[in-house]
Amino acid sequence: MKTKEMQIIRPPCDLSCEVVNIKLTLDQDLSELLPYINREVEKARFFPKGPFTKFVHQGHNVTIDHDNLAMTGFEDDTAAREFAAQMIDMLRDIEARKDSITPQIKPFEPPSMLAILRLLPGKNGCAECGYPACMAFATALCREETTPDACKPLALLPDGAARLERLREMTA
Ligand code: SF4
Repeated sequence: MKTKEMQIIRPPCDLSCEVVNIKLTLDQDLSELLPYINREVEKARFFPKGPFTKFVHQGHNVTIDHDNLAMTGFEDDTAAREFAAQMIDMLRDIEARKDSITPQIKPFEPPSMLAILRLLPGKNGCAECGYPACMAFATALCREETTPDACKPLALLPDGAARLERLREMTA
């Protein structure tokens, strides 16, 4: 597995924005490797209809789509290049161990927003979670923009601990 082309991308935004993204074009299509990556990488999300896979590693979003490997959120070019090299090493390692890995073909299923909403206390307007209403908080949980623990009233319910645990499982 080798890099054919590398692009350092700076998203168009305000001048104070220093975020650097990096995209590699590889010399091979990784589609067949995706179920193995799905098994090996924690919280990998496999989308068989692409096919493509997404995951977060060390705080950076990684997307593998055919022969493209895209990674986001670096402070500079050097950090982006180092992380990309690390990802290539990881993918080579998975490829080398492929025969001993059971592929995971289960597609990613996002949590149901309504199921999340049903577990929240429904104290709309208390906004202790930082969102104006439980619906907005549930939406943010689905988008992984917050965590269940941010809803403080939840822990005060008689079955709060169980609800919190269920929410953690659904949004993990
Ligand atoms: S803190 Fe909890 S109960 Fe209050 S608005 Fe947010 S999600 Fe609803």
